[in-house]
Amino acid sequence: MLRYNESMASHCSLRTGGMTDEFYIPESIQTLVEFLRKNIKPVLFVGLGSNLLIRDQGFKGVVIKLTQLNSLTIKNSVINIGAGTTLAKLSRFTSTNNLHGAEFLSAIPGTVGGALAMNAGAFGFEFWQFINSVQTINTSGEVYQRYPNDFDIGYRQAIPKHKDEYFISAELIFNHEKSKQSIKQLLTQRNASQPIGLPSCGSVFKNPDNHFAAQLIEQSNLKGFCIGGACISNKHANFIINNNNASASDVENLISHIQQTVKSNFNIDLETELKII
Ligand SMILES: Cc1cc2nc3c(=O)[nH]c(=O)nc-3n(C[C@H](O)[C@H](O)[C@H](O)COP(=O)(O)OP(=O)(O)OC[C@H]3O[C@@H](n4cnc5c(N)ncnc54)[C@H](O)[C@@H]3O)c2cc1C
Repeated sequence: MLRYNESMASHCSLRTGGMTDEFYIPESIQTLVEFLRKNIKPVLFVGLGSNLLIRDQGFKGVVIKLTQLNSLTIKNSVINIGAGTTLAKLSRFTSTNNLHGAEFLSAIPGTVGGALAMNAGAFGFEFWQFINSVQTINTSGEVYQRYPNDFDIGYRQAIPKHKDEYFISAELIFNHEKSKQSIKQLLTQRNASQPIGLPSCGSVFKNPDNHFAAQLIEQSNLKGFCIGGACISNKHANFIINNNNASASDVENLISHIQQTVKSNFNIDLETELKII
């Protein structure tokens, strides 16, 4: 399905952002291959937009949202999953199949593709720990099988060594021991410390070495500080909330203000985890 002049605010969990020239949801890998063979515009692959801010000027190209590539199968304890499948669905699926290790994913709103690109993590686990292999597609529509050593994997990043390739599926192995905490307990823990249910992108900044971004922001007395409709959460200082029709510029200006304040107070540079396009 191809649409034109689509507002990205409805595809990003911050509920703000500019327009994209074209917006495409492929029904299958084959239709994506055919689309990319003909496409000459810049592409941006997205999942649930839970870590994404598109500037107010918008994206001059085609946003490709993979949520219909949501297949999920299991054979000999190896899970094969489409990049558009949600992490919540994956977490429930592993639990039903008596496999363990994916419990932490229940707390991360996103898709497999986004979690691969971000090396999403929580409660001491990271997504790439469980990856056997991935399928990628390049901008010409060619499909490849890749392995973890084809990527530079680190804290909240997985940089492909082969440029211009995007995730379309993954093979995962979950063989950990049963987690001491149930999915329900992990979600309760999350809800107690994060402003769940309000429009946000999760943690805005990566934790610098030996520090917690939230602590540095809180110690700068910035909790509750707003620019336009964008506010620093009173519940968790590393969360920005779209409180009142914030523009993408409000969010970005607030990010700059936090970075400058923390730099002048602690001489520490905060790097965004949020992807700004
Ligand atoms: C309330 C809340 C809590 C959160 N908690 C956590 C947490 O505990 N831990 C954590 O790590 N994150 C957390 N996040 C951030 C976010 O959920 C994760 O980064 C998630 O993995 C993003 O997935 P997505 O599918 O929404 O990706 P998007 O936000 O759509 O995209 C994120 C990045 O991945 C790229 N991308 C998306 N799909 C693909 C693809 N198929 N191929 C290549 N690149 C792709 C995008 O271009 C973009 O650069 C939280 C967010 C919210 C709103």
